[in-house]
Amino acid sequence: MTGQEQAAKALAGQIEKLAAGREIKIMHVCGTHEYTITKSGIRSLLPANVKVVMGPGCPVCVTPQSEIDACVELAEQGKIICTYGDLLRVPGTKSSLYDTVGDIRIVQSIAQAVDIARQTPDREVVFMAVGFETTAPTTAAVLLSNPPENFSIIVSHRLVPPAMKWLMQQGEANLNGFLLPGHVCTVMGIHEYEAFPVPQVIAGFDAMEVLYGLYLLVKQIVEGRAVVENAYARAVKPEGNLKAQKMMAEVFEPCDIMWRGFPVIPDSGYKLKPQFEKYDALKKFGIELKDVKCTTGCLCNELLRGVKEPTDCKLFGKACTPLKPVGACMVSTEGACRIWYTYGKAH
Ligand code: SF4
Repeated sequence: MTGQEQAAKALAGQIEKLAAGREIKIMHVCGTHEYTITKSGIRSLLPANVKVVMGPGCPVCVTPQSEIDACVELAEQGKIICTYGDLLRVPGTKSSLYDTVGDIRIVQSIAQAVDIARQTPDREVVFMAVGFETTAPTTAAVLLSNPPENFSIIVSHRLVPPAMKWLMQQGEANLNGFLLPGHVCTVMGIHEYEAFPVPQVIAGFDAMEVLYGLYLLVKQIVEGRAVVENAYARAVKPEGNLKAQKMMAEVFEPCDIMWRGFPVIPDSGYKLKPQFEKYDALKKFGIELKDVKCTTGCLCNELLRGVKEPTDCKLFGKACTPLKPVGACMVSTEGACRIWYTYGKAH
């Protein structure tokens, strides 16, 4: 056994001692945390009475069908659609972008989409701007740099704290605490989370960092405290990244927005401020988002609210695989179903 394995086992032993005689359910809201937890087999180290579930932490997974449908519609109208590869196979109502006949290009960044717009001034180029507080600053920086007029975006950014607040108000998932995403807190700091009367720990991303975060969280829950502890202090400052926050505040304002698996959550998304509305693809091309109901039997909605696990879905690994995904959680490398399918459940 390596030194790290011994340390992990010792920490897991501490968690078991602390949690003895209680049922504890923890939610994390980060695809990278799910990757680390599943790939490293962290659930197999934890006692059965400590359950860790993934919430709405995968940006592609929480993007509702209506926004995929809007993208498909724009592709069918002849616009060049630029998107991250993860979004390509997410099913919309009638098709995914992958199955749509159109000019759809995979890009690594929004800047690459702007380059395409500059290179093709006679075409309209639309970038699908998905992501949480981690990617919103890049979108803001690009819009502040005066991109060409034939460039626009579907603003699909979503904010983590309002979704956490909604989950706590519903009480549906019986959560005792949250493991917070280190990268989101690197941008936004910790103050937004201090408003929540629930145990929370900000954790880094390697296996020991995640396990240590879980240890601190279980300790906090057992001791009856409800504060924000920062176990990722090497990257997260209490105030966050003020420069990134300033750019976001210049370009965006909060708006009510629907998430996959959730209703419209107040102030949980971004819209462009009036001076940047010319870059809003939905306004520019008169596209309306339609509320659509999922009828495939996919449990992504429940998964994202922490009330089901991937293997609860009868389609998991049968009708739904990464090559033929039925739901968004099997598409993205940050989706719980895709991660469990690739690395095994391990609990
Ligand atoms: Fe949806 Fe597929 Fe996951 Fe089932 S296995 S919840 S169908 S993504």
